[in-house]
Amino acid sequence: MSPVLTETHAVPSPIPPGSPEPGPARRDLLDLETLPKADLVRLLEGAAAFRRVLATPSRKKAVLTGTAVANVFFESSTRTRVSFEWAAKRVGADSVSFVSAGSSVSKGESLLDTVWTLESMGVDLVVVRHESAGVPLFLARRVSAHVINAGDGCHEHPTQGLLDARTLLDHKGSLAGLKIAIVGDVAHSRVARSALWAFTRLGAHVTLCGPTALLPVDASALGDRAAGGSVRTAARLEDAVEGADAVMALRLQTERMERANLPSVADYARRYRLTRKRLAGAAKDVLVLHPGPMNRGVEIASHVADSPKSLIREQVANGVAVRMAVLCWCRGLDPVEAAS
Ligand code: ASP
Ligand code: ASP
Repeated sequence: MSPVLTETHAVPSPIPPGSPEPGPARRDLLDLETLPKADLVRLLEGAAAFRRVLATPSRKKAVLTGTAVANVFFESSTRTRVSFEWAAKRVGADSVSFVSAGSSVSKGESLLDTVWTLESMGVDLVVVRHESAGVPLFLARRVSAHVINAGDGCHEHPTQGLLDARTLLDHKGSLAGLKIAIVGDVAHSRVARSALWAFTRLGAHVTLCGPTALLPVDASALGDRAAGGSVRTAARLEDAVEGADAVMALRLQTERMERANLPSVADYARRYRLTRKRLAGAAKDVLVLHPGPMNRGVEIASHVADSPKSLIREQVANGVAVRMAVLCWCRGLDPVEAAS
């Protein structure tokens, strides 16, 4: 009998031996919007601790021996998948990757079937990337394995948001009161959504900047104001960059644009490409971020991407440490203790 996707579906998958007791403390990383500040801070501290582990000769801390991780990627990705694979190895877990860029798995039933199959093989943790927002939550409600969102449509990419925050913290110590501009295709960017929750929860003031058609319609509902952060929008790059402590450039995610949201890429680049000249109004020690993959010459000039201000390579390096912390945390471990 093939499983049917309804809320009342009553076929619980078996809990693999060795899994932590499921219960109210079940841990999935689905988004940063709902991640409590205490967990956010602990994950970021854990990432710093795991970076120290990565600097040792063995580069390993086998705290998840016996844990099976499946990377289930329904959308193409290189760095995120490889980063999760490395992270799993570095904490002693076993991982397999299932990659499907085709459309035959885009139907809900096949998606759940795929994950149930992996669970039956004993998978404890599922790292999922999917073109549809909400897929990680959908799975977390139906499978006993813990679920980590590796990017769902235009919704969130929480491990990216964590690594962005980790990278800025390394340089600034604290994000409280910092001015951070996120420039480009914010509307389609799960990176921007995750980053802004992390940044504002740590007290930063975020300006989202881009052509009106590429700004989110719900900007006033975004960001953790209770934590002292704020979110505003700006159509002119110069306004967003003025006094900024950090600027993040985003790729034009044309694969997620339904209509022609843009007059032309050349026109976009003329107005929004991050250049040295355009960064002149920012803080003297402004830092530049980009989640990758970069389109040099479109959203960012090569001389900026390769300048000392650019933290792009550090972001990638921090990705592995962040994911080590997340894997441990989802398995019920304290990430800082796990790395010690
Ligand atoms: N989308 C980028 C890539 O394919 C980075 C990522 O996977 O998050 O490499
Ligand atoms: N790698 C990021 C993502 O997967 C950003 C991008 O693809 O532009 O969302």
